[in-house]
Amino acid sequence: MFQFDRVALSDETQDLRAQVRAFIDENRAYLPRPNSDFVTGHDPEFSQKLGERGWIGMTWPAQYGGGERSNFERLVVTEELLSAGAPVSAHWIADRQSGPLLLRFGTPEQRQRYLPGIIRGERFFSIGMSEPDTGSDLASVRTSATAEGDAYRINGTKVWTTDAHRNHFIICLVRTAAQTENRHAGLSQIIVDLKNDGVKIRPIRNMAGGEDFNEVVFEDVLVPKNRIVGEPGNGWQQVTSELAYERSGPERFLSAYRVFAELIRLCGDSPAPHQAAAIGRLAGHFMTLRRMSLSVAGMLEAGKDVVVEAALVKELGNNFEKLVPEVARLAVPDIAHTDAAALGLFRQTFDETMLLSPSFTLRGGTREILRGVIARSLGLR
Ligand SMILES: Cc1cc2nc3c(=O)[nH]c(=O)nc-3n(C[C@H](O)[C@H](O)[C@H](O)COP(=O)(O)OP(=O)(O)OC[C@H]3O[C@@H](n4cnc5c(N)ncnc54)[C@H](O)[C@@H]3O)c2cc1C
Repeated sequence: MFQFDRVALSDETQDLRAQVRAFIDENRAYLPRPNSDFVTGHDPEFSQKLGERGWIGMTWPAQYGGGERSNFERLVVTEELLSAGAPVSAHWIADRQSGPLLLRFGTPEQRQRYLPGIIRGERFFSIGMSEPDTGSDLASVRTSATAEGDAYRINGTKVWTTDAHRNHFIICLVRTAAQTENRHAGLSQIIVDLKNDGVKIRPIRNMAGGEDFNEVVFEDVLVPKNRIVGEPGNGWQQVTSELAYERSGPERFLSAYRVFAELIRLCGDSPAPHQAAAIGRLAGHFMTLRRMSLSVAGMLEAGKDVVVEAALVKELGNNFEKLVPEVARLAVPDIAHTDAAALGLFRQTFDETMLLSPSFTLRGGTREILRGVIARSLGLR
């Protein structure tokens, strides 16, 4: 079963929100991008600016340069950046899940080596889970890492790898032992240097015209053994814990937020009744999902297991963010025939979000997989 406790943010957290808004105002040159999607704005300079403010690795230990702040403070920073349309994708994955993974399972040497660069907004990570024919069923990954003296020899292909062509490292789920009856055994996670280890990276164009994800090919790539994260063979347990970080944040319901903000601007102070109803409907959903996401931040803060709650936030959040452009389209029915100048930024954010929206319920785990996780917790399967 699951539970979403009510959480109230402290005054300090609200002060931090004001600081982030002031920072955004000072850095208008970097934004707003047309949409609030966390994947489409890769800007190392902006990430470094956030690093200087202490807004990457906010909850991590001071010994690596982390802020030792709460998950609530982190959530406030991320929701302000996303809703403003800030370009956050460069550091996003490292901050959200690679860093926490290394803190939990990495060796002291790995933490010392990778975390300070992430915190400064200078070192970026990708996720190497999906493979051709292996997305939802992660346990069937085929990429192999074979021990050879002090190294592992990696062969295989990863796909849909966000920002592999721009980032520095990828943490790959690989098979270090042959598959047995226990499909979850023999998997491990290993860090590969995308710039120096001889990996082949081919960008894949998406429907919106962007090249944000890739095919990543490993042909006899040799990686030192000390790049294994955690115990060899423990990859399945590690990946499962990583997915909770991947699924619970505000990026799972805010991807279409700029459409909502621009809709309000376009409708002005006196919206027609059907427009007011659309705005009210979307606002109600935003508030509910935000309360749920805050509650998950509270559980992370308390060190609780949030796998099911994270799946629920993602499942409801992704379906909602797909709905936002649809509701906006009905509120402004003449989009196609209205002069683009009259619509202003609404037109741009609407077009781009509409084209990106099919990916919302795929990335990070599909709708069916998340419903399976939720159904299991309810004892329905
Ligand atoms: C924008 C974007 C960015 C991404 N970035 C990354 C990344 O950085 N790194 C990475 O590793 N991956 C990434 N992915 C991949 C993503 O995680 C996978 O696409 C996703 O897990 C689905 O896997 P698949 O595409 O192989 O589909 P499949 O697993 O083949 O699924 C196809 C369909 O079958 C359904 N299905 C599958 N199994 C079941 C089942 N047991 N029960 C019911 N229905 C089922 C699925 O829900 C889906 O509708 C990204 C994807 C997108 C769209």
